[in-house]
Amino acid sequence: MAKINTRINEMLGIEHPIIQGGMQWVGKAEMAAAVSNAGGLGIITSLTQPTPEDLGKEIDRCREMTDKPFGVNLTILPTITPPPYEEYLRVAIEKGIKIVETAGANPAQLVPGLKAAGVTVIHKCTSVRHAISAQNKGVDILSIDGFECAGHPGEDDIPGLILLPAAADKLEIPFVASGGFADGRGLAAALSLGAEGINMGTRFVATEEAPVHQNVKQAIVDRSELDTNLILRTLNNTARVAKNAVSDEVVEKLNQGAQFPEIRDLVAGKRGAQVYETGDLDAGIWSAGPVQGIINDIPSCQELLDRIVADAVEIIEGRLAGFVAK
Ligand code: NAD
Repeated sequence: MAKINTRINEMLGIEHPIIQGGMQWVGKAEMAAAVSNAGGLGIITSLTQPTPEDLGKEIDRCREMTDKPFGVNLTILPTITPPPYEEYLRVAIEKGIKIVETAGANPAQLVPGLKAAGVTVIHKCTSVRHAISAQNKGVDILSIDGFECAGHPGEDDIPGLILLPAAADKLEIPFVASGGFADGRGLAAALSLGAEGINMGTRFVATEEAPVHQNVKQAIVDRSELDTNLILRTLNNTARVAKNAVSDEVVEKLNQGAQFPEIRDLVAGKRGAQVYETGDLDAGIWSAGPVQGIINDIPSCQELLDRIVADAVEIIEGRLAGFVAK
């Protein structure tokens, strides 16, 4: 079977250049192991674990489920209770993690320690200027996150169709495309736009192995590209989340001029975690991108990655090649 092979495969030691997004409350050992076993790069999300010690145990658990490479994500954004970020990274390094994805803030402070520990650093960001800055600071791979993404898209609102080639024009190190990717069409498009792979979040939530309630997976399948909300816009900390009673209320309150303390209890991550655990889709804020409009099933990670790669190859060798007149 033909494969897609880029610098990303080589640098990360993976079969397919497909990375699982560092999703809060979803990026647990089961998710990361399933993606890595399927030939992609699974990612454990640090802050889903209550303490750095728990992250260490989660890394151990993941190692019991896969002998393939997997990484750890550390996202630094405004939080209700600031976590000990450097402690999380210290534990990840001690546990022998060799791939770390940083996101949310400038990684300059973190890169020297990670590189000294022999870690390959992926930095996810939402603008070309931040990508150049991270490249100059010594990160190895960028994950360029267009406005289509779930979670935090930044404040520039530049979609991937423009952001990815704009990044390609300026970057020397390889990058994966993030935000709005779910299938082989997306992978082929990302490669066309200058990326060397894709990062997917919402698509991996709707898989058999994702450690979330079935209602969440089914909602992603059932809902359309219209069923999301942008919250926290007025606070300069925009997040793309699933449309529900809570995110509607947050948007309404912020539009009326509310400040963070007035919506804090609505947006609290601990409340959102209940959605994934209990399947009550209105229990709190949960993340989903508009890409759910093209997600129509709940496959295993292996089925998903095999299909994405086979479809991308077919598009490149068949459909696209068929348009070339000689
Ligand atoms: P949390 O409970 O601390 O905060 C909930 C939400 O409110 C988050 O979006 C957070 O950024 C935002 N927030 C917190 N304090 C704020 C302030 N003073 N002003 C404006 N916004 C504020 O967060 P959590 O759900 O426990 O998540 C932990 C970390 O993971 C946070 O940094 C969060 O942003 C991040 N996260 C990232 C993604 C992603 O896109 N990868 C998705 C969910 C959460």
